[in-house]
Amino acid sequence: MSDCTHDCDSCGEACSERQGDPADFRVPVNQFSHIDKVIGIVSGKGGVGKSMVTALLACAMRAKGKKVGILDADITGPSIPSYFNLHETVEVNDAGILPRISKTGVEVISLNLMTKNETDPVIWRGPVLAGVVKQFWTDVLWGELDFLFVDMPPGTGDIPLTIFQSLPVDGIVVVTSPQEMVSMIVHKSVNMAAMMEIPVVGLVENYSYFKCPHCGEETAIFGRSKLQETAKEMGIPVLARIPIDPGLAEACDKGEIEDYPVNYMTGVADLL
Ligand code: ADP
Repeated sequence: MSDCTHDCDSCGEACSERQGDPADFRVPVNQFSHIDKVIGIVSGKGGVGKSMVTALLACAMRAKGKKVGILDADITGPSIPSYFNLHETVEVNDAGILPRISKTGVEVISLNLMTKNETDPVIWRGPVLAGVVKQFWTDVLWGELDFLFVDMPPGTGDIPLTIFQSLPVDGIVVVTSPQEMVSMIVHKSVNMAAMMEIPVVGLVENYSYFKCPHCGEETAIFGRSKLQETAKEMGIPVLARIPIDPGLAEACDKGEIEDYPVNYMTGVADLL
């Protein structure tokens, strides 16, 4: 171009001399951290078990000997620290914020590890929260990680958008439950990922069935699942179907998810 200022950041022209991408809002992780793969765990609404799936994925990867972190971006329901029995606030030094480390070595950062009391509500507006989540990426001293799992807030609001734009997300896992309007919710999440050019690894259905502890019969408590149809229609694989498991709920409540003998995400971890 004849009137080129050579400042590609302030120019929208797709000329042959363009350097970088004007739509690239990525922010670099700090100099003390190197993260190989970032996987986002998303859901259409709260309570479908997204945090539990995130925690189980991290445990499954850890069991494979990988170095793993969880960035808890679910500001509305930051349950990850309690699943790992982490309650003390994080330490901060001149270089950045130190994540808390679980007993098996999973690094965790969460807003719940920053407030004085776990029960304090976070009454900040969306853009401020989105900024905090971005800082969890830029200012936390993760060190060397093979996998960082990001527990996203439900839906397609400010925070997921910020994460998709700012972090190099390699793929998303979509968690659903049978009683959700699976098709619409999956479409929304998948479409958002597609717009951000982020691959969908696959779907996980939680609360799929209940297995009778006496006779072993499986009952679809929430009715017949439409998961397979939706997955087929969208060309996305079904990664796992997780039963309603009272023992797992109890382990989560007690902060003992790492000790639970069954990990429904072991097979999924092999695919990442
Ligand atoms: P979300 O992150 O989607 O809001 P959570 O993962 O925090 O949901 O799960 C909500 C509650 O349901 C937690 O107490 C969790 O332990 C429980 N839960 C999740 N999945 C199961 C399951 N398959 N069986 C039993 N309890 C579950």
